[in-house]
Amino acid sequence: MKDGSFNPFNMAQQQFDAIAEKLGLDQATRDLLRFPNRELHFNIPVRMDDGSYKVFRGFRCQHNDARGPCKGGIRFHPQETIDTVRALSMWMTWKTAVVDIPLGGGKGGVICDPHNLSMREQEAICRGWVRQIYRLVGPVQDVPAPDVMTTGQHMIWMLDEYEKLTGMKSPGFITGKPLGMGGSLGRTEATGYGAMYTVREALKELGIDIKKTSASFQGFGNVSQYALELYTKWGGKAIAVSSWDNTDKKSYTFRKLDGIDFSKLIEITNRFGEIDKVKAKALGFEILDGSAWIEQEVDILVPAALENQVNAETAPKIKDTVKLICEGANGPTTPEADEIIKSKNILLIPDFLANAGGVTCSYFEQVQCNMNYFWTKEEVLEKLDQKMTEAYHAVSAMARNKKVYMRDAAYMISISRVAEACKMRGWV
Ligand code: NAD
Repeated sequence: MKDGSFNPFNMAQQQFDAIAEKLGLDQATRDLLRFPNRELHFNIPVRMDDGSYKVFRGFRCQHNDARGPCKGGIRFHPQETIDTVRALSMWMTWKTAVVDIPLGGGKGGVICDPHNLSMREQEAICRGWVRQIYRLVGPVQDVPAPDVMTTGQHMIWMLDEYEKLTGMKSPGFITGKPLGMGGSLGRTEATGYGAMYTVREALKELGIDIKKTSASFQGFGNVSQYALELYTKWGGKAIAVSSWDNTDKKSYTFRKLDGIDFSKLIEITNRFGEIDKVKAKALGFEILDGSAWIEQEVDILVPAALENQVNAETAPKIKDTVKLICEGANGPTTPEADEIIKSKNILLIPDFLANAGGVTCSYFEQVQCNMNYFWTKEEVLEKLDQKMTEAYHAVSAMARNKKVYMRDAAYMISISRVAEACKMRGWV
């Protein structure tokens, strides 16, 4: 998606250039990693329900597969652009590298709006997408997953088409499948829990007892719900949650200074993560402005809704009590806000580390599918905890040793791992 003049691929390249400079990477490695290794643009002709034909534009970018098959979602969006897909594929390379899973980075998309398409038409787009590139994707080449406006149903149609074309059962071709159809237990919890595993480790390093902390969350969707559930289960006190209200077309912050009871809040939340104002009031919540979540006197802030929320305007409102920010969302903090966070001496767990639990569990789904043997939920979550904990400590140690910001440390680890894999393969 492109918002005005903002070009995510330019931003991804700038971020990369800055770290490449810090790491002193040679020119050939920089040239290799600044662009996707391969990108595919293709037509998907579909016979519509009214009998007419419409041609949709599809993409897949395989940014880098030096560490393993590419991995990344497929988005359906009317404003999808190749530059968004390029940027996201690059960020997937860094995300899989920071948690050290043997995968690379990929992303795909189709310019279309599922709101205006019947399920049959969406199925035709899914099958058409696979028909165009099935020779270049698969369990050992490139593994897609759901993303914006695509679901487990879309994944199953894509899997079915892939298996028909290749004549083999290959459930490891795609992840995000429903349970019982090759999906993994623990995937729903993975991103929120993963974020909290890193928070737990960060608090240990800061010498703070989680039971004595309070936190404020932005968003109450998939990521935030599970993050808040685990945080409160561990004894933390969540005092505020901000969420979108689709009737009023604005967001509100729901505050309860004596602590939020997760099981009660979830009961008054719809499937889009929107909290019922009237019922919240009845439960004793104060209803504040949507931006109030960031101004709370808490120890921990968890932006887990959207990008661009902690910015030059909002970051100065962060209270001095805040010691830790865990970025559950992708890209919630702007570079200007990063400077403010640094000056306030707040420890930041950057997005592509904090929310990597999702892709890590997708990797587990792929592994389970490839061996056709499924783990229990406890087993999945235990492995997830181990991966996230290791990744957190590697980044934290790098930040300490090189005296750099946590976001830079995470990039330095990812980029050097990928650069080294390219070198070992003799690519550059
Ligand atoms: P979701 O759609 O389930 O939930 C989004 C939440 O944000 C909802 O509670 C919604 O009410 C709230 N929200 C929307 N606009 C808001 C606003 N202006 N102010 C306050 N709240 C607002 O989404 P999700 O899956 O929880 O994803 C949240 C973020 O985490 C996104 O940036 C996403 O890219 C990222 N992420 C998600 C996963 C995953 O596995 N779900 C993995 C990695 C990253």
